[in-house]
Amino acid sequence: MKVLVAIKRVVDPNIKVRVKADGTGVETANVKMAMNPFCEIAVEQAVRMKEAGTVTEIVVASIGLPQCQETLRTALAMGADRAILVEVATEVQPLAVAKVLKALVEKEQPGLVIMGKQAIDDDCNQSGQMLAAVLGWPQATFISKIEVAGDHADITREVDGGLEKISVRMPAVVTADLRLNEPRYVTLPNIMKAKKKPLENIKPDALGVDVTPRLTTLKVEEPPKRGAGVKLADVAELVSKLKNEAKVI
Ligand code: AMP
Repeated sequence: MKVLVAIKRVVDPNIKVRVKADGTGVETANVKMAMNPFCEIAVEQAVRMKEAGTVTEIVVASIGLPQCQETLRTALAMGADRAILVEVATEVQPLAVAKVLKALVEKEQPGLVIMGKQAIDDDCNQSGQMLAAVLGWPQATFISKIEVAGDHADITREVDGGLEKISVRMPAVVTADLRLNEPRYVTLPNIMKAKKKPLENIKPDALGVDVTPRLTTLKVEEPPKRGAGVKLADVAELVSKLKNEAKVI
């Protein structure tokens, strides 16, 4: 079975995000970028499934600036076989991501698509669901376990009250949650090997997809600064403040 994994390049999660001075978005110039952590989990899952013999080929795809090649190379170093960059100069919103990925699914014919549950920059949590909708495929979101058995996959999902077990028909779209696995570190020999793996560069026009944004960002603001704390004399004062000022007890 061939697997398609969608990966997004985002601001490194260890970096403090800064809002642009003009309030139009988040500063990305001269900022360290990395693979979206949930996408790393998605790649790791595909690699583990290949190691277990369920998967024969892993194709990774990213939609964005030419610099996404670097992120794709990381996925290749983790164990993916081939990469596709769909080069776009502007921001791509979830519906456009879903349409591009649908075109890639039609081109590559994978038996499974693995995505992150959400991108940590836009926090949309929409692309996987939209892809399943435009393909008319079953979907399993927030997965923490997957076992493919013939024409279906047995899946455990993380839900508010605990874990939900479902079975989905294949082909399907699944989105990875935090507990699905712990991604491996890439080793230097694998980074070197990844440089020789195929990376195809295509434009959305060649796929017949219009990626023009449908939503307009009006303003991006920093959250309000936290006020300074106060030191209290004793527990009695704390209880009194919680009761009379914060009114939470
Ligand atoms: P989102 O819906 O933006 O929260 O993203 C959810 C998932 O969709 C991500 O974890 C990726 O797997 C995929 N995705 C979103 N944007 C892109 C992109 N520009 N390129 C490739 N995959 C993406």
